[in-house]
Amino acid sequence: MSNDALRDLSQNKIVQRLGVPRIPVLRRYAPGQPLLEGPALVGAVGKGGHADGVRALLAGAGITEAGEEGKVAAAVLDATGARTLDDLAAAQQFLTPAVRRLAPSGRLLLLGPVADAQDAEAAAVAQAFEGLVRSAGKEVRAGATANLLVVAPDAGPDALASTLGFFLSTRSAFVSGQVVRIGAPVGAVEPGDPARPLAGRVAVVTGAARGIGEAIADTVARDGATVVAVDVPAAGDALARVANRTGGTALQLDITAPDAPARLLAHLRERYGRVEMVVHNAGITRDKLLANMDAERWNAVLAVNLRSQLAINQALSAEAGLLGDSARIVSISSMSGIAGNRGQTNYAASKAGVIGMVRALAPRLAERGATINAIAPGFIETAMTAKMPLGTREAGRRVSSLRQGGLPVDVAEAVGWLGQAASGGVTGQVVRVDGQNMLGA
Ligand code: NAD
Repeated sequence: MSNDALRDLSQNKIVQRLGVPRIPVLRRYAPGQPLLEGPALVGAVGKGGHADGVRALLAGAGITEAGEEGKVAAAVLDATGARTLDDLAAAQQFLTPAVRRLAPSGRLLLLGPVADAQDAEAAAVAQAFEGLVRSAGKEVRAGATANLLVVAPDAGPDALASTLGFFLSTRSAFVSGQVVRIGAPVGAVEPGDPARPLAGRVAVVTGAARGIGEAIADTVARDGATVVAVDVPAAGDALARVANRTGGTALQLDITAPDAPARLLAHLRERYGRVEMVVHNAGITRDKLLANMDAERWNAVLAVNLRSQLAINQALSAEAGLLGDSARIVSISSMSGIAGNRGQTNYAASKAGVIGMVRALAPRLAERGATINAIAPGFIETAMTAKMPLGTREAGRRVSSLRQGGLPVDVAEAVGWLGQAASGGVTGQVVRVDGQNMLGA
C-alpha cells in the first residue's frame, strides 16, 4: 500500500467499473533490470545521423528492434535532420502508429534539431517539436512518457548515451514533457558501466538525513558513488544511519554557517582529496503571503536555498584541483521557482535564483570540465507533502500528466543521470521531475 490511496483504489476492477479512471502504477528502476521490457521502434526523418547510434546502443543492451506489429516498449525518432514542414509531417507519420503501439510505462523519445536562426522554416520546425512532444506527453497513457532531446551538431554519439539510457529506462519514470539540450561534452566523457555508472566518484549530498536527500544518497551509492552526507547537527543520528548504510561519511554542518564552505572543503581534502559530484539538495520553506512576509522568514529561506549554494560553488571553483575533471554539480530547484506559488515568494525567489545561478556558472565551469544543472521537482511524496491538507495534496498529485505524485527516488535517479561523467553534454539546464505538472508548464 502506497500513501496514495486513490491510486491504489483505482487498480480495483470493481472501482474501475464505477467509472473511476485507473491511475497508472509507474514502473521504476531496480538493479539488473533490462534497459527496456520489450522491443523498440527506431525511425528517422531528414538527414539526422543519430538513428544508427540509437540502434547500436539498444543492440548493446540486448534490445531487439520492433517488427511491423505488436506493442513497443519505446519509440525513438531521430528528427535531428528535420528542416522543413514536410519533414515534420513525416515525423507525424512515424509517431501516430508508434503511440498506438506504446506499452504501459512506454517511452516516446524524439531527437530534435537545434533551431537554425538563418532559416525561418527550419527554426519553426525545431520549435514545433517542443509543442508536439509536450502535447504527446499529455496524451500517452498507462505511465508512458514523451520527451525531446535537442541534439547539437557537434554533440557526437558519446554525448548522447547516458541521456538516452536515462530517458529510455525506468529511471525516468516521473519525467515527461521535458526538453533537454545536448551539446559537445565538457570534461572527461568516459562511458560508465550501465550497472554502476557512478563507480569511483565522490558525491556530496546536502540535506541527506531524510526525504529527497536521503533517496539521493541511497541512489548514487547504489550506482557506485562514495557519499559525503551533509546535514545539520540536530539531524545527526539520521545522518549517521545514512552514512553507514551507504558506506560513506557523515558531515554535520549547517550549510548557512560562514565557515561551512571551508569545513566542507577541508573534509573533502582530508578524506578523499577530490570531489566529482556536488548535490545541493538541502532546502527549507517558511511560507507567508508577501503582504505578511518578515525579513527573518525571507532571509532564512534565501540563506539555505540559495546563498549557501553560491558560497559553496564559489569556494569549490576557487580551490584548484579539488573539483575533478569531470565534476558534476546538481542543484535542486522547484516547480515553484518556475511557476510561482501562493505564499511562497521567498521560496520561489530562492528556487528561481538557483536556475539563474546554474545558467551563469555553466559556461565558466565548462572551462574546467565541469557541468552544473538544476532539477525542479514537482509534487513529491515526502513527509512535507504528507502534512498538506487533503484537498491541496490531492490537487497537487492529480494536476500532472501521470496523475500522481512522484517519489523521492525519482528526483534521485535524475541526479544520478546528471552526475555521470558521461553526461558532460548536458549543462546549464533545468529538468523538471514532475510527471509533466500543468503548473508553469
Ligand atoms: P526535507 O525537509 O524532508 O529535507 C531537507 C533536509 O535538509 C533536512 O534533512 C534538513 O535537516 C536539511 N537542511 C535544512 N537546512 C539545512 C542547513 N542549513 N544545513 C544543512 N542541512 C539542512 O525536504 P525534502 O522534501 O526532502 O526536499 C529536499 C529538496 O527538494 C529541497 O531543496 C526542497 O526545496 C526540494 N523540493 C521538494 C519538493 C517536495 O515535494 N518535497 C518539491 C520541490 C522541491
